[in-house]
Amino acid sequence: EGSNGNINSEIYKKIPSIKFTKLFINGDFVDSVSGKTFDTINPGTEEVIAKIAEGDKEDVDLAVKAAREAFDHGSWPRMPGCERGKIMNKFADLIDENLEELAALETIDAGKVFSFETDVDIPDVSKELRYFAGAADKIHGRTLKLSRPFQGYTLLEPIGVVGLIIPWNFPSGMFILKCAPALAAGCTMVVKPAEQAPLSALYLVHLAKLAGIPNGVVNVVTGFGHTAGSAVASHMDINSVSFTGSTEVGRLIMHAAANSNLKTVSLELGGKSPLLIFNDANVDEAADLALFGSLANKGEICVCTSRVFVQEGIYDELVIKLVEKAKTWVVGDPFDPKTQQGPQVDKKQYERILSYIDHGKREGASLLVGGRPCGDKGYYIEPTIFENVKDDMLIAKDEIFGPVMALMKFKTTEEVITRANATTYGLAAGIITNDLNIANRVSRSIKAGVIWINCYHNFDSGCPVGGYKMSGFGKDHGVEALEKYLQTKAVVTPIYDSPW
Ligand code: NAD
Repeated sequence: EGSNGNINSEIYKKIPSIKFTKLFINGDFVDSVSGKTFDTINPGTEEVIAKIAEGDKEDVDLAVKAAREAFDHGSWPRMPGCERGKIMNKFADLIDENLEELAALETIDAGKVFSFETDVDIPDVSKELRYFAGAADKIHGRTLKLSRPFQGYTLLEPIGVVGLIIPWNFPSGMFILKCAPALAAGCTMVVKPAEQAPLSALYLVHLAKLAGIPNGVVNVVTGFGHTAGSAVASHMDINSVSFTGSTEVGRLIMHAAANSNLKTVSLELGGKSPLLIFNDANVDEAADLALFGSLANKGEICVCTSRVFVQEGIYDELVIKLVEKAKTWVVGDPFDPKTQQGPQVDKKQYERILSYIDHGKREGASLLVGGRPCGDKGYYIEPTIFENVKDDMLIAKDEIFGPVMALMKFKTTEEVITRANATTYGLAAGIITNDLNIANRVSRSIKAGVIWINCYHNFDSGCPVGGYKMSGFGKDHGVEALEKYLQTKAVVTPIYDSPW
């Protein structure tokens, strides 16, 4: 039984026994070379769930060797795309069949709300695989129109062995977000899951094997960033790295790539995404969207609306609604169907968020609601809203990655465009208005990779997401994501006595 006293025991019983705790290399679960392990902790109870194999450089070397062999001599890159697609669809079916178990694993490992997992997150994982399964036989180059009598065409070839370094906020989602397009492209891979939430990656790779993905194609090395992650980024035999996480580590990855074999890099980094609410918005709906934008997944989403700009005509009315709704926002046992917000992922993030809240108070922002930890066990934080936030305060500039909203008032469209863009980040933005021209004009003016109009967090396997500015480069989701895992070769030959 859970020890924080508020665990819903019926659902808690569904927690699976932990079957997979080792590295997955060349089709087998193996111990790390050093034999070391680390604890993965349930952030709702602060209890150790399992001991996980701690991979390091030697383990990454073995995983890369397996991936290289599978790429250079194995069937996966050589298989017709439709065959790869068939196996990927089988993998998606197995995810659907094991939906509850995967959902429960993520709930205990990362504090994610179980009902969101079963309703949205895990179904989206199998959808993502099916999207790229369908793309696997539609990857092709083009014929070239050349200025001389030459025949030319391009071939799109898989880039090779790829390193996929992922964070903990959507453990299954991030795993598939990177693996699905890489698999469709015919690459082989080494995945480094986040040390905070490694369980679902190990479960997923077991399903990948059952689905028929050949040995060596997907390898998983669990472990820490500065050891296992860094070994992936600086490996001489990895052709490309796709990373999602902090801007700080993104910078290290680029350095490592530059200092090793100049592997290509794509980075999906932090954000400080603005939500712009205009005077004509429906206040009730706008308040719901602002809360959902800021608090979904306890604020641990790179695109969260951590800056909410409200036009002055509806500001006071909106504040009343926001406070009212934030007070009824349910924080608690993530297995309880009524819960909207579970615990933050770990102690480090929890303390970091609380220190930002403290900073906000000291900087002179006014705390409208929340601001305190809750419960006597587990890393729970109240939904928190600050007003009177100035653009140059730390809480308006830094990515907090927690349930903290900074409210700001604006007068004109021109003003809010300038202020929304006054950030080093550029991941996403939201606009709430029924004025088509404002919506279109602001969409074109905001420097961010995705703009949601009258909606938010609408991720879709078909819709590319990725940053501008220091939020990184390269896209996940959509056909654009395939580009990271492919390279273009031009083939040119003369034609003699060409008829045209
Ligand atoms: P992080 O960037 O440290 O970790 C992300 C991944 O990178 C993990 O797998 C980690 O092990 C690995 N990593 C860490 N150091 C590495 C290194 N030197 N070389 C190679 N890989 C390395 O993120 P975090 O510490 O878990 O979270 C810190 C902050 O990052 C958060 O507060 C948030 O602001 C941001 N973040 C963003 C996202 C996102 O989706 N963009 C996700 C998680 C965290």
